[in-house]
Amino acid sequence: MDTMGHIKLHIPGPVEVSAKTFAAFCAPMVGHRGQGFKDLYAKIQPQLQSLLFTKQLVYLSTSSAWGIMEGSLRNLVSKKVLCCMCGAFSDKWLDVAKRCGKAAEALQVDWGSPIRAEAIDAKLATGEFDALTLIHNETSTGTMSPLTDIGLLKAKYPDVMFIVDAVSSMTATRIAFDELGIDVLLAGTQKAFAMPPGLTVFTCSPAALAKAATLKDRGYYFDFVEFQKNAADNMTPSTPSISHIYALASKLDDFFAEGLEARFARHLTLAQRTRDWARGHGFLLFPEKGFESSTLTCVSNGARTGGRVLDVSKLQKLVKDRGFLIDGGYGKIKGTTFRISNMGDETEATMGTLYAAMDESIKLIG
Ligand SMILES: *Cc1c(COP(=O)(O)O)cnc(C)c1O
Repeated sequence: MDTMGHIKLHIPGPVEVSAKTFAAFCAPMVGHRGQGFKDLYAKIQPQLQSLLFTKQLVYLSTSSAWGIMEGSLRNLVSKKVLCCMCGAFSDKWLDVAKRCGKAAEALQVDWGSPIRAEAIDAKLATGEFDALTLIHNETSTGTMSPLTDIGLLKAKYPDVMFIVDAVSSMTATRIAFDELGIDVLLAGTQKAFAMPPGLTVFTCSPAALAKAATLKDRGYYFDFVEFQKNAADNMTPSTPSISHIYALASKLDDFFAEGLEARFARHLTLAQRTRDWARGHGFLLFPEKGFESSTLTCVSNGARTGGRVLDVSKLQKLVKDRGFLIDGGYGKIKGTTFRISNMGDETEATMGTLYAAMDESIKLIG
């Protein structure tokens, strides 16, 4: 593979993909209804279940995360969906619900704030909703919402479908699906899985599958009932990106060789290092204190007053000249924040070279 002039990705998705993962991606093709594919899916199914701490089958959708984010609405919303909104991705989910013709309402908090269980409780108490959407780790703001607290609400509202996007946190932190009691958990593979984009890993509660079966206009490609039926036989509803599934098998072996707890701890430590780096240079962090993501750091560059401010595009260019791509802020906080990812395969050593490149760049800016 020609990697000359490659700029290493430290944006929060897609993230850097290892040569080993790409090699797995290039395994010879097999038929998706044949024993070879069934054996592949059967091999990774228990690993996926361990990763998500679930006894439910884990499904593989050949789509980016939005496919299943939209699919969840089509499968599970018949009355009205509460969209918990705290950043660009979670805000967009409301728009997507409306485009699907669903009744939808916003629970909006300021960007950088988490979604709190009390706020959800107050909304669900109206009895108007049969589903909610929540992003565990809002990637645009680097903010993690307290999923355990929110999951506890499920006991109080058993008929409300809790749909959770863990796109930028799945594999990097413990998300115990069965314990949480939530109904859908999903993630695209180009974030913390450190795989190429194009595959989504997700699972559903028995209640979600039962609810989906009652909805008439859930379509075919993202029909959760089809995913369940096929997965029971180690297949997918339509021809999947088999290459992605080979790569996923390779990644899962890596995750369990490292150990999940070690993987979670590594992400947290590296995020803490990045926060220290930012504070060490006089910056404030964008997320509310105590809710900082463990997979990326959103640095305030004027979005919160008091900290250091510099020309983000200059910083990005200087860092890029040194071989790394960082993100210059997303949506309405572009330029007034910047983001640094530590997702996937990063180590103290690889993050150290990034910090050194950023140190040099900041010195040049003066
Ligand atoms: C990246 C991201 C998405 C969108 O994923 P696509 O792959 O573009 O569909 C959704 N939610 C979160 C939290 C993300 O980080």
